[in-house]
Amino acid sequence: MTASLDACPVCGGCEFTCSEVLWRSLINEWQLAPAEADYINRQQGLMCTACGSNLRSMALAAAICAEYGAAGTLQAELTAPAASRADILEINEAGMLTPLLASLPGHRIAKYPDVDIHALPFAEESFDVVLHSDTLEHVENPVHALTECRRVLRTGGLLAFTVPTVVERLTRSRAGLPPSFHGAPGDVRPDFRVQSEFGADVWTYVIRAGFFRTTLHALLYPAGLAITARK
Ligand SMILES: [Zn+2]
Repeated sequence: MTASLDACPVCGGCEFTCSEVLWRSLINEWQLAPAEADYINRQQGLMCTACGSNLRSMALAAAICAEYGAAGTLQAELTAPAASRADILEINEAGMLTPLLASLPGHRIAKYPDVDIHALPFAEESFDVVLHSDTLEHVENPVHALTECRRVLRTGGLLAFTVPTVVERLTRSRAGLPPSFHGAPGDVRPDFRVQSEFGADVWTYVIRAGFFRTTLHALLYPAGLAITARK
């Protein structure tokens, strides 16, 4: 895997489109510089025309493949016998990866508000893989949430996730700031409210949650970032 995007890591497609997904008030609330808005737009709006994955889903797929030493696509990797034996917990829907993952017998999906990431309704050491995509910025206590992810992982199991990250600043809490929402302009559902705006110290949340080591995977840096850690 390289840092460039020759082919979609999900399906192998080679054609991409890009559309702007950020809107003016969100850019202002987030205080994004034009270059930052540009790469966050690509993270969310650069899509594979074949499978519909956006760049963050592609980064997550590339990170999972890298963790398992897979040279091909996530789609191909999921047809391997090992994948059919894996217990996989997807927290909320990880973009276009959901239909692929849902085809596996060991796949479970836990969605807000039925399931609170701070109190996962699963026993310790239940899963081989826990993944989520652009969820952590919406939770009250990201370290606690990642600690829960670690608790339900088996020893050696893989945590893989994405979160919107502005790489040249530090994480700030939006507590005390005017509310800001992802999703679409005017959408003020509570699960779309942004609690944290992540920055260069995003990796420290993983370590504070009890993991010994964490890896950053960059696709079209800094637009596509995914984070992994092993229990
Ligand atoms: Zn694709």
